Parts: sequence; structure tokens; C-alpha cells
Amino acid sequence: MHNIYGYTLEELKSLFSPSFRAKQIYNWLYICYENEFDKMENLPKSLRQELARDYSAKNLDLIKLEESNDGTKKYLFKTFDGHTFESVFLKMKDKKKNENNQVIEGEKYTFCLSSQIGCKVGCTFCFTAKGGFVRDLSVGEIVEQVVILKRDNGLAAHKRVNIVYMGMGEPLHNLANVAKAIKILSELDGLSISARRQTISTSGIAPRIKELGELNLGVQLAISLHAVDDALRSRLMPINKAYNIESIINAVKEFPVDARKRVMFEYLVIKNINDDLNSAKRLLALLNGIKAKVNLILFNPHEGSEFERPEIDRVKKFADFLIQRGLLATIRESKGIDISAACGQLREKENNGNFNVRARKK
Ligand code: SF4
Repeated sequence: MHNIYGYTLEELKSLFSPSFRAKQIYNWLYICYENEFDKMENLPKSLRQELARDYSAKNLDLIKLEESNDGTKKYLFKTFDGHTFESVFLKMKDKKKNENNQVIEGEKYTFCLSSQIGCKVGCTFCFTAKGGFVRDLSVGEIVEQVVILKRDNGLAAHKRVNIVYMGMGEPLHNLANVAKAIKILSELDGLSISARRQTISTSGIAPRIKELGELNLGVQLAISLHAVDDALRSRLMPINKAYNIESIINAVKEFPVDARKRVMFEYLVIKNINDDLNSAKRLLALLNGIKAKVNLILFNPHEGSEFERPEIDRVKKFADFLIQRGLLATIRESKGIDISAACGQLREKENNGNFNVRARKK
């Protein structure tokens, strides 16, 4: 049985004739969110039967859902081979000006997708790392997360969303599948999420950053930097021993950045570890010459963690220091702090059997 979400429109055109059938299938899957072939009424019965026999549009089973007071939702999916992984739905306030120059308040949505089940990278602050690596997610499994999150949150196909490959896994360790998923998600006859609205967040696999740049997908890049010196970064992220800060910065300098965008540097602020102004000063020097934006993320403590959440006043001083010197910096409060918001936390809880919040089966 093949996962139907793993096919580009062109591939479907070559599989089914006449080729307009592919557009019809795309319309059912990505505009109507229909996952039963039998209900795709404008397809001939024989095609519906063929699709039902050889393909599946229900490959992920939603087994748990946690919902935070701030609107963040965390989904736990089970795959056909019995593994679990997570996706996160984030809702944020948004302000836009209308044609009369009036400020209109709205909402914007970001989907945080997983690219692998588990991860090989082994960051010390990460729950996903604890479970080791299981396997890459297929193209279809990556795309289907978006379809389910859109459908579950009542977001019409035309409703704009942002995608971040920041869930479980290192997306550059599954680059071929992630790159194909980006193309399928951006298909104009489908979900039409432009590559500019999709961000690959990496732990800094320098040679793969170069490869990603050469693919010229138009995707955005985010780097989990977290530290300004190799000793601390290697302690937080042992992958730094293979690809140190200098190699990452050199790869980023060659990455094609959209004229309207910046490379995002994620900096996980940890109390008394990397929250001082000397670190801010070194960060400023490190990013000199890069069209960069720094996202300061307050460490979200979890049971068993050796690190603590920093004082917000200290983080504000850190941000002000950067901003006053011309480096764009924002502070991101960890969303969904009342649920298992850290990457891999919900899966870990489920595996340990101590899950006691709102659960739902589909
Ligand atoms: S933070 Fe990301 S890259 Fe690091 S171990 Fe966790 S999933 Fe892997």
C-alpha cells in the first residue's frame, strides 16, 4: 500500500490518465481534505477502486492530543509500523493593515513538523534524543501531518500557514524526503504553502546546509546555535564536535537567502549557562556579515533536566544588547508550557505510561 501524500502532482499525472485526474485527486486530498477514495465522487468508480486497492490516504493514526491554554496543540501520531512521533500546532496573534491603513488583529498559524522518528544528533537538552533513532519519516508521512493539522483545526486550504521542520529529528539527515515534501506542500493545485513560508531548522550539519542551498528550493533556514563557544556547544550538542561553529557559520554565509528574509539563529537561553552579556557580545561578533535574526528561546525545564529556565529580565537585557547594536532579536516564550511542549516529551510520556491529560482517538 503506497502513501498517496508522497506523490508530486507530476508523478500522479504520469500514473493516472487522463492527466487531469491527478488534479482532481490533489483537489480531494488537499482542498477538501478527503481521505476516503470512495467519496471522491467525480472520479470514475474503477479509478476509486484502483486507488483504494493500491494507495492509502490514512497512514497516520492520531492517538493523543494535548491542548494548551495558549492554543498550542500537540499531536501524537502512530505510524503503520507502530512507531510514534509528534507534530505541534501553534497559534499566535497577528496584526495587519487593511486597505484603509487600519490595524486588523488576526491570528497566524505555524505547524511544527517532525522529519524523523527519533534522532541521531543527541542534543543533551532534548527528549527526542533520549529515545535514539528509529527511522526517517517518508515523504507522505511528512506531508500528511500538515493535512491532518489543517483539517483538525478547521483551516481552509487557502488559509496561510507557516511550516517549521523543527519537531522530532534532524531534517538535514532526511534531506531527500524533506525536500520532496516541501515541493508537494508548495504545489499550487494543492496546499500551496510557498517554500518561503517553510523553514528548515538544523542542528548545523554544515555539508548538508551546503547541499540544501544547492537545491535552491527557496526555503528558509534556521540554525540551532545555542552557544557561542565550541566547548559549551559541544556540551549541549555533541554534534558540534563533527561540525563546529566556524564550519556552520561558513556554510550559512554561502546559503542563498531570500531578499526579504533572514537566517534565523535559535539561541536556547539557559540560566547561568549562556544568558550573560559576554555571550551576547560574542554572538554579535559571530553573526557579523550575515543577514541574521536571533530568536532567544527561554529554556523550558522538564523533569530530569540539569538546566533551568533563565530570568526573563536577564533575557531582555541580552536581547536589548543585540538590538541596540543592529542585530534583529526576538524573545520567544516557550508556547504550550502547561503541556508537553518540548520536542519528544509527549512521546516519552506516552512510552512511560504516565499520560493523564485530555486524550483523543480518531
Ligand atoms: S534537538 Fe533536534 S537535532 Fe537535537 S536531538 Fe533533538 S530532535 Fe535531534
